[in-house]
Amino acid sequence: MNATVLIVEDEEKLASILGDYLRQSGFETAWLADGNQVLPQVRERMPDLILLDLMLPNRDGLEICKEIRSFSQVPIIMITARVEEIDRLLGLELGADDYICKPFSPREVVARVKTVLRRTVEHQPANSGGLTLDPDKFMAVLNGHDLDLTAVEFKLLHFLHQNAGRIYSRTQLMDRIYSDQRIVSDRTIDSHIKKLRKKIAAAAPDQELIHSIYGVGYKFEAA
Ligand code: CA
Repeated sequence: MNATVLIVEDEEKLASILGDYLRQSGFETAWLADGNQVLPQVRERMPDLILLDLMLPNRDGLEICKEIRSFSQVPIIMITARVEEIDRLLGLELGADDYICKPFSPREVVARVKTVLRRTVEHQPANSGGLTLDPDKFMAVLNGHDLDLTAVEFKLLHFLHQNAGRIYSRTQLMDRIYSDQRIVSDRTIDSHIKKLRKKIAAAAPDQELIHSIYGVGYKFEAA
């Protein structure tokens, strides 16, 4: 079964070029030009990945992305017309998996689609850079070494690992880890992550599993 990519783009020519390249690379494609059509279609026939243009008639990509994230973790690559916009979008924490700026080469888009899909597959615990997590015992074993994590460190690692490749801001991580946010600050997350990375480094000196994205947050990614 080939993966289906839903192209949401109102510039017909661009959509058709993208579709050609994707099909040549073995993907199935679907195309929508109207922002209003996206959610019904996604609910009815979930694609494997969505290429989502930001500026669309009737409903913008921003709103659509947010709404899809309320019920699905389907990979989304946002397409924007300006580089500066990417920073703003990241700040909005839409939960998109990647961002591409126009003008782009269709070849590059195909490459990004493949990378994001590969990441989603790597989600499976099997490919975790030698890491095994046992949520019942709050135990994390890396390359045969027990990392000896605190409950909070375990929760952080477990959450990031389950959502490997996805970038989370400190606020998002706090939401996930603490039931009562009043007791913590952004810095608390930083300090837990710091300790967590130290323990990972002790068990696997040349392996970075938790990456910090400057000014944005953190993500889990095994090399
Ligand atoms: Ca557009």
